[in-house]
Amino acid sequence: MSKIILTGDRPTGRLHIGHYVGSLQRRVELQNSGEFDQIFIMIADAQALTDNADNPEKVRQNIIEVALDYLACGIDPARSTIFIQSMIPELTELSFYYMNLVTVSRLQRNPTVKSEIQARNFEASIPVGFFTYPISQAADITAFKATTVPVGEDQAPMLEQAKEIVHKFNSVYGETLVEPKILLPENEACLRLPGVDGNAKMSKSLGNCIYLSEEPEDIRRKVMSMYTDPNHIRVEDPGSLEGNTVFTYLDAFCRPEHFEKYLPEYTSLDELKAHYQRGGLGDVKVKKFLNKILQETLEPIRNRRKELQKDIFAVYDILKKGSEKAEQVAAQTLLDVKDAMKINYFSDEALIAQQQERFNNKES
Ligand code: ATP
Ligand code: MG
Repeated sequence: MSKIILTGDRPTGRLHIGHYVGSLQRRVELQNSGEFDQIFIMIADAQALTDNADNPEKVRQNIIEVALDYLACGIDPARSTIFIQSMIPELTELSFYYMNLVTVSRLQRNPTVKSEIQARNFEASIPVGFFTYPISQAADITAFKATTVPVGEDQAPMLEQAKEIVHKFNSVYGETLVEPKILLPENEACLRLPGVDGNAKMSKSLGNCIYLSEEPEDIRRKVMSMYTDPNHIRVEDPGSLEGNTVFTYLDAFCRPEHFEKYLPEYTSLDELKAHYQRGGLGDVKVKKFLNKILQETLEPIRNRRKELQKDIFAVYDILKKGSEKAEQVAAQTLLDVKDAMKINYFSDEALIAQQQERFNNKES
């Protein structure tokens, strides 16, 4: 069986370092591994509209931002197909048929949707499109017969939902859809990178991000004002690592060689953590170390992005060609789905002959 990746992001803002560690970095590694037959990366504008219906301009403006971030991080359009969700109408049609296979109560149990509803103050009036976006996400995944979906932890309930739809579809209409597998980051800190404000998730919608394209001075300012241990007031005080965002970021970004380069009095992160917990290590020193690591990580991405920004026409062309290619693949799956559901009235000559027979028999 072919190995196929489908993954994507909502164009609700530039991408941030949470996306990078949660999914983007992995996509580039998988792409470069050469192990996959096809890789589809989707800019989920239709999904972004489910909670931004009154702000289509925001979605429209951010499509190019996300595309630039992809390319700057090393997504290579020669090896990965980057496309825009709304340009593939087949995805909407698939969603419509999948809706019949999912109950309202099942959607209500989705923990990610629950917390997103809360975060958006949608409790009293949830847009139907937003409520059902896990179904449309199942359509996105299955349309490309994806076997592997590299995403952050918040997407686990979506993958569960997609698998249920695949099982249900295949058991009702016959083996047609491919079951996808989630691929989570191996490093625990990357599963759900917290925001600079200490909030559980760095998210475009919460405004607590360090963006991939952030300028050096803004990175420094954000790191220096980051949430740490509120009880660690004097340098001598013992500090706690629990919920300490600076250390979570170090878990996500720090590599052994960073010590040699930027903090040679320590040899490992464990040693640094132990000193912090013992007392005698100030937040500022740890933050300065983190700043150096983030500067080193983001500088090449920012520079590549600036190069790419010089030819925006070329980037839109990549998106257009990618969307054309993606549509061909989705159209084939939609044909398979409709065949399985027997929504193929005009191409099924046997059906038409049978109906003629039936009416002939009635007459006689
Ligand atoms: P929004 O607030 O508009 O939902 P978002 O920041 O949550 O935006 P998405 O486009 O919804 O970003 O997510 C895209 C991908 O990035 C998903 O695979 C998601 O799991 C991953 N991701 C997003 N935020 C984080 C994070 N803080 N840590 C790890 N992975 C993340
Ligand atoms: Mg999200």
